[in-house]
Amino acid sequence: MSTSSESGIVASKPIKKTPNDFVFGKVIGEGSYSTVYLAKEIGPGTEYAIKVLEKKHIMRERKTQYVMREKEVLMNINHPFFVRLYYTFQDADRLYFVLGYARRGELLDYLHKLSSFDEDCSRFYCAEIVKALEYLHGAGIVHRDLKPENILLNDEMHIQITDFGSAKIFKEGDTSEENSSNQRKNSFVGTAQYVSPEVLTSKSASKSSDLWALGCILYQFLSGEPPFRGGHEYQIFQKITKLEYEFPEGFNSLARDLVQKLLVLDPDKRLGSDEMGGFDALKSHDFFTGIDWDHLEETKPPELVPYLPATASNPQQCWSTMKPGLTDKRIGEILTANLITEQERKQRLEEQAKSNEYHRFTEGHLILKQGLIDKRKGLFARRRMFLLTEGPHLYYVDPVNKVLKGQIPWSKELKTEQKNFKIFFVHTPNRTYYLEEPQKRAEDWVKEIDKVYNMYYET
Ligand code: ATP
Repeated sequence: MSTSSESGIVASKPIKKTPNDFVFGKVIGEGSYSTVYLAKEIGPGTEYAIKVLEKKHIMRERKTQYVMREKEVLMNINHPFFVRLYYTFQDADRLYFVLGYARRGELLDYLHKLSSFDEDCSRFYCAEIVKALEYLHGAGIVHRDLKPENILLNDEMHIQITDFGSAKIFKEGDTSEENSSNQRKNSFVGTAQYVSPEVLTSKSASKSSDLWALGCILYQFLSGEPPFRGGHEYQIFQKITKLEYEFPEGFNSLARDLVQKLLVLDPDKRLGSDEMGGFDALKSHDFFTGIDWDHLEETKPPELVPYLPATASNPQQCWSTMKPGLTDKRIGEILTANLITEQERKQRLEEQAKSNEYHRFTEGHLILKQGLIDKRKGLFARRRMFLLTEGPHLYYVDPVNKVLKGQIPWSKELKTEQKNFKIFFVHTPNRTYYLEEPQKRAEDWVKEIDKVYNMYYET
């Protein structure tokens, strides 16, 4: 009961649905060749994500093969960690892919929101990707474009891998490198960071190329940035082929070992490749200790929360040196937030020097507040670790390369201005700093800076 169309796409599901079987709601995403709608099936009321592709557009852009590949792969996949294809159908102008709705959207959005994941979350989501890849490779499919944008999340926050336009099904004895160069070149526009060195040097992708991408993703989960970065693609490619990357300070040592075993130039030497013991060896890596591989899909994912290692920015209340009772003096101290006694300062500074990797940028000053802020200049924003310290100082540090980038100069003229939940300005005589607090806590910063201002300038 297959029907073929002018676009060459063949429909093949036994029960033919039509667009009239669904109510189409909002647009939930736009791809280069598609629009994805949230839709509800009439009758059962089940929600789906329907990917709609304009035939004319696909033909004009010569993407028929891309679309057919995506459909073929999706039809061959049946695993909880992948977006599921329920129906396909078409009308005169369009193709429709009815997909399981990944209600929580892209994992990348969470990563951007939180900057990075803590170790539990990184371990858990990395393990889900490993299990998904084990299934995929076992089914003879290589994804070839694995990256955080292509990892969606369902209602229970489990992964739903998508985007199989660049995938390849390996048939028994198939050694061809069919269209690898063109296909890859097209598919990594803007996301060159995850491409493996063998794709760049010999234009051939294998199952092991997905393991390389996994290494990049784990690195990004923990550090907030992919390992190979650069101003333009050429720079990134240079770094990839030379294996030129560094681990930021504080990177979990077991994860570091795993990343080093995945980011190996020779694809056969990557942990997880057949030669290196396959997926059993990968799953046995110490970083995954505690993962219940057989019940991952039933395990409740750890909550994705901002990763704030114990730092002076969120110090524990220090009770030991405080006297009992609420005297006028104590009220005064609390109201002016002048809580820091000499002894506390000493203790906190010692703690800060020991456990806060940003201590070295503070010239020995006690950190009163610290956090990641996007510092905007024109159209570009750079994420910086801001350190508000006694002194007063407001230092900002590149959190990836761990380099002090500068400080906002304090003076009596300094003024804060909150624009909304996220954005606030710090006005100085020579410059207005446009700052964006990604967690929508601009108010906390404004309050804290004002408090410090009052402490030093309003006496
Ligand atoms: P391109 O085709 O340019 O590589 P893409 O693969 O992101 O882009 P689509 O697969 O068409 O394009 O998806 C576009 C967007 O729609 C995705 O980024 C995602 O946010 C959303 N989306 C796609 N599929 C689903 C789904 N099953 N559930 C929820 N959202 C989805």
